[in-house]
Amino acid sequence: MEEADLTLPLSQDTFHDLWNNVFLSTENESLPPPEGLLSQNMDFWEDPETMQETKNVPTAPTVPAISNYAGEHGFNLEFHDSGTAKSVTSTYSVKLGKLFCQLAKTTPIGVLVKEEPPQGAVIRATAVYKKTEHVGEVVKRCPHHQSEDLSDNKSHLIRVEGSQLAQYFEDPNTRRHSVTVPYERPQLGSEMTTILLSFMCNSSCMGGMNRRPILTILTLETTEGEVLGRRCFEVRVCACPGRDRKTEEGNLEKSGTKQTKKRKSAPAPDTSTAKKSKSASSGEDEDKEIYTLSIRGRNRYLWFKSLNDGLELMDKTGPKIKQEIPAPSSGKRLLKGGSDSD
Ligand SMILES: [Zn+2]
Repeated sequence: MEEADLTLPLSQDTFHDLWNNVFLSTENESLPPPEGLLSQNMDFWEDPETMQETKNVPTAPTVPAISNYAGEHGFNLEFHDSGTAKSVTSTYSVKLGKLFCQLAKTTPIGVLVKEEPPQGAVIRATAVYKKTEHVGEVVKRCPHHQSEDLSDNKSHLIRVEGSQLAQYFEDPNTRRHSVTVPYERPQLGSEMTTILLSFMCNSSCMGGMNRRPILTILTLETTEGEVLGRRCFEVRVCACPGRDRKTEEGNLEKSGTKQTKKRKSAPAPDTSTAKKSKSASSGEDEDKEIYTLSIRGRNRYLWFKSLNDGLELMDKTGPKIKQEIPAPSSGKRLLKGGSDSD
């Protein structure tokens, strides 16, 4: 590793001297002064390398883009359809655009291009939190899984398997982790190459992802870090990928039908007429139904009874009375009244 070149000649100096020699000479003033030897030591080992790596590279964006972009080279991914059997360790849902996989189990991902990218191109994998409220936070492994691991890349969630050429990065500004692997031309008779990714924490890991959904961004980049293409998919690392995929696809279908139902009943006139007709019909029922009223005191009871008898009588004879007093007759009365006064 390159750190060795930097540290060997200076290894006799104090940490403070090292800091001044190495960090001040890089003219990076945004770096904070060392606070604790242990924590800063970690940064110290990682920073010179990443700074060298990113010297000619466009600065990494604060929030990585998550839009799919095939680019001029027609960059695309292909996942094996592993189905939803219980035994499956990694399975991709096209419906959900989501990979379900077990902790530390390898997921092969096919990399396709239409036009061959320039020599030295790499595939970079970066994880980001899906929800906007978490997107600023770096996706890292949980302390528990980190402590169990002795590798150099123990804090990285995404690992590239099966290649000694995989390189692990921590961006000096955003602190985001990523891993790159050189782009390989497809072998003869094959239209794609395969990269092997594994995720080193469960989505539920406390102190890590902590049940927050993540996205994995795969970018095709030039040696200089220029993005040529981008593909993005959600990832859930869990104990039962097959079962969880089935459940989530089922939920999507349910919510899909709910939404269409909602949309159908959404127009205001529909619901209001429904309510009106309902209340109207129930009003008719209420008119016919018999209610009992308890009344204290005989006089009051008789008063209510007479009122009720009168209403009952009106119900029976009401229409006849109305017929007996048509509008013109009241006019005659007025005329009569006029004649009476004469
Ligand atoms: Zn973990």
